[in-house]
Amino acid sequence: MTETILHTENLTKKFGKLTANDHISLEVPRGEIRGIIGPNGSGKTTFFNTLTGYYEPSGGSVVFDGTDVTGWKPHRIARRGMGRTFQIVSPFKNMTVRQNLLAVRAPDEVDKDERADEILSFLEIDHIADNQARGMSGGQQKLLELARVLMLDPDCILLDEPTAGVNPALENRILEHIETLNERGTTFVIVEHDMTVMRTVVDTVSVFDQGRHIVEGPFEEVKRDEHVREAYLGSAADEGVSL
Ligand code: ADP
Ligand code: MG
Repeated sequence: MTETILHTENLTKKFGKLTANDHISLEVPRGEIRGIIGPNGSGKTTFFNTLTGYYEPSGGSVVFDGTDVTGWKPHRIARRGMGRTFQIVSPFKNMTVRQNLLAVRAPDEVDKDERADEILSFLEIDHIADNQARGMSGGQQKLLELARVLMLDPDCILLDEPTAGVNPALENRILEHIETLNERGTTFVIVEHDMTVMRTVVDTVSVFDQGRHIVEGPFEEVKRDEHVREAYLGSAADEGVSL
């Protein structure tokens, strides 16, 4: 067990001439809830994709739980203990909620039925286990997405806008689940526009701007930072995101 569960060094992702992630160095201590904020297009989702093997890095490295996983395939990284959700949820719509969980490719030794039951009851969606995923609200689909990630019992979970489009009651439930899982030892990295989320559940905030990791610290400190205010002026400020 290493103290730092996730460590990127100079992680870079280019798309042609565009540098979407520009030498991002970031360390997440085990057990932390890390937030990532930044204007639209600042490279947050790209960072998740590069970290979890969906994009091949153009440079730099990713060390997860003491192992260099740079360039590994997504399923291998997931099995190593880094789970993630997507900004755009994509459940198997013609399957039930439970079938969506059982469809996760878990190692042979995992009793998938038992695990699925535990997760459905933990997330309080056991009463809709046999409903088709297609009928679920956007917020319930976010919960289902989290449920699927939990099937692999990850040590660290990356969440891309987990409360976007979710009603306040369900948002609170999702945040409670995150806190409970965190108390049980799961590390989180959360990309989120909602400043309430940053204020209430996140330990440390990392700020991205134009592909770079510009500032890191407790939310109250970060929001006073001059560079952060500059990054938000004119971009996120126009979208109604206020610090
Ligand atoms: P964020 O999640 O912070 O809003 P993204 O990581 O989605 O930002 O995007 C960062 C930049 O990279 C944007 O300019 C976006 O257009 C670009 N980008 C993201 N993914 C791709 C891709 N697959 N191909 C080309 N450009 C991309
Ligand atoms: Mg994004």
